[in-house]
Amino acid sequence: MNNRMDTNTPHPPPPDRFEVEKPDDAWRKELSPEAYRITRKGGTEAPFTGEYTNTETPGEYRCVCCDQVLFGAGEKFHSACGWPSFSAAAGEKNIAAKTDSSHGMVRTEVLCSRCGAHLGHVFNDGPPPTGLRYCINSAAIRLVPEGRDDPGRP
Ligand SMILES: [Zn+2]
Repeated sequence: MNNRMDTNTPHPPPPDRFEVEKPDDAWRKELSPEAYRITRKGGTEAPFTGEYTNTETPGEYRCVCCDQVLFGAGEKFHSACGWPSFSAAAGEKNIAAKTDSSHGMVRTEVLCSRCGAHLGHVFNDGPPPTGLRYCINSAAIRLVPEGRDDPGRP
């Protein structure tokens, strides 16, 4: 049996303490129910339902919880997997990675390195040059279109 799908990524493991930490209740109040379920409880949105699955707008994608820049629209690609996919992160240190052994698979989970938000998983079947595919929940990220003032969080 070999169902290992964990991936070598350039990202550090999650720190002992995140720079942004809040009580569970505070996150629940600040976030939409879907964003809370995904980022704070490790949930997954249904494929092809997320807001950014097919988005091509130039800009940057930030953490819905703490506003850290996570991905650039330039690295976004269409993977047909049903979730927004990126071939690279905005920076090695913006993402934390850890092994996720849930659901009978060994995968590499990716989190926001600043607040620990669960974002999705990274796989090693992406396009060159990285060969990585970051499979990210739309509800965990927020697009700030290029050239527009960041309206900030609602
Ligand atoms: Zn964050």
